[in-house]
Amino acid sequence: MIIIINKGRNMKKVIISIFTFFLFTGSLFANEVNIFSARHYDSDVQLYEKFTAKTGIKVNVISGKSGALEKRIAEEGADSQADLYITADAGRLGAFSSNLQGGLVSDAIKSAVPSNFRTSKWVGIAKRARIIYFAPERVSGAELAGLTYESLADPKWKGRLVIRASNNIYNQSLVASLIKNNGKGNIAKWSEGMVSNMARSPKGNDRAQILAVAAGEADIAVANTYYLALMLSGKKGPEQQAAAKKVKPFFPNQDGRGTHMNISGAGLVKGAPNKANAIKLVEFLLSEEAQNHIVNNTFEYPMIEGVSPHPLVVNMGLDFKQDLKTKVVNYGKRQADALEVMTAAGWK
Ligand code: FE
Repeated sequence: MIIIINKGRNMKKVIISIFTFFLFTGSLFANEVNIFSARHYDSDVQLYEKFTAKTGIKVNVISGKSGALEKRIAEEGADSQADLYITADAGRLGAFSSNLQGGLVSDAIKSAVPSNFRTSKWVGIAKRARIIYFAPERVSGAELAGLTYESLADPKWKGRLVIRASNNIYNQSLVASLIKNNGKGNIAKWSEGMVSNMARSPKGNDRAQILAVAAGEADIAVANTYYLALMLSGKKGPEQQAAAKKVKPFFPNQDGRGTHMNISGAGLVKGAPNKANAIKLVEFLLSEEAQNHIVNNTFEYPMIEGVSPHPLVVNMGLDFKQDLKTKVVNYGKRQADALEVMTAAGWK
């Protein structure tokens, strides 16, 4: 009799335990994933909707500037609901890596993303190149032959170059890669040469540099690849479209390591409450379907093989040599040095 009562109590306990388990797991492992995104593309939201339709995993997006998102994740610490931090520069992801955790190491991720474009904490989801634009009527083929980032500091470009400010992360990553390949001392001197070659004190975004060349304010500019395609597409208005037609892209360092490459990437946040779903989302972003969606909306290069960029990007030329030798993790590691040498040279 006593035994039977005990059995009954145990059974009751088991049932209560199971009930409690489901109650907690229901909230701890809700089928969702929380993204903190510094990418300002509406098309990314459509992409997340596709992921939800496929997997049933709800995607919650908090968007903002990278600095604000990073501050919030760091301040909230263990209480942060962030699973993935998505931003558009390897230098940013690298500099934020103490707030990220390892785990982006599945076979699907490793086979999709070349090793120079990922770490265990963050992986590239699209590529961009930082290249040179020139005015064909003022810059000869002979001047361009063999042009490298390093030779932009040559006095022959005096008063002819535009590039944005040293606080810009794309420039910091470019200069970090130059330091990695040439040494800090050489790039400190190079920065001085760059400053003395500038046609004006740095101002504006990447498109403003292309516009300056089109307007005759400078002969060459440094800017990312996707901005020319964006301007040519007409999405930034007829004036920028017309200006974009006046400049030509040039891919530097073709005789050496190749053109400087950067990424849009996703980092796995430390303490992510939905880690498994976050990994699933990264794997989806690297699928052929998602990659096609990304490149056709942002004009970036696909991260995976077998996907063609947008036709306007194809027209810029695809047969250039990419720098696949310099691991993008160096952009974060050398970021402080990069800013230091630019600032010391008087690069505004
Ligand atoms: Fe950009």
